[in-house]
Amino acid sequence: MKKAEIAEFYRRLAERIPAPETELNYTNDFTLLVAVVLSAQATDAGVNVATRELFRLADTPEKMLALGEDGLKQHIKTIGLFNMKAKNVIALSRILVDLHGGQVPRTREELQALPGVGRKTANVVLNVAHGAETFPVDTHVFRVANRTGLAAGRNELEVELKLERTTPPPWRNIAHHLLILHGRYVCKARKPECWRCVVVDLCRYKPKTPPPGDGEVKPPSAPSSRTRRSPRTPLAPRS
Ligand code: SF4
Repeated sequence: MKKAEIAEFYRRLAERIPAPETELNYTNDFTLLVAVVLSAQATDAGVNVATRELFRLADTPEKMLALGEDGLKQHIKTIGLFNMKAKNVIALSRILVDLHGGQVPRTREELQALPGVGRKTANVVLNVAHGAETFPVDTHVFRVANRTGLAAGRNELEVELKLERTTPPPWRNIAHHLLILHGRYVCKARKPECWRCVVVDLCRYKPKTPPPGDGEVKPPSAPSSRTRRSPRTPLAPRS
């Protein structure tokens, strides 16, 4: 995509998604880190159910250590890979207490040194907790970036670096959320809902999905403020 198209792409998504933010529930930097670690290969909604009571009891590394691995497992056993995740959360809590004064570190290197924390998790924490201009690439971002031609890449790192290079201000610290929410609710994996997509005319994906009942896919008119909805609510098809 050309520079002007990329800027327009983000402008339209931002207009349609007025609250681009994580859908994981958290209360501080530590619970954010834990929630993101737990969310690997799990849905945000599933993680939120599991952490509701957990974060009431253990919202600091010290309290998490006091809860212990077996106690933690009782809270997160509905989440996939919970045995390994419980081990990692306890181990990272120990490191936070021993090496970081109980605080979540602020650099990617220090974050990635924690058990269960990869580049994507570190980027999410830096972005959400500190507003850093990072571009975590999850399955939604990878799909949207490749399908649309916004930032094509063979793997997550290629897409991330391309997004980092090409995303213009003022969208740099919310691009991740805009792309995730667009992918989760409109540009879905199995059947993208192109007929109600605000970037349909910019997108390079050729086999655009027509409206239910068939019909021609047309570029949408700019949404009015009345049609804006929370990104947590899937948008209704436009007529
Ligand atoms: S037009 Fe379709 S494929 Fe392209 S971004 Fe929109 S929903 Fe996704």
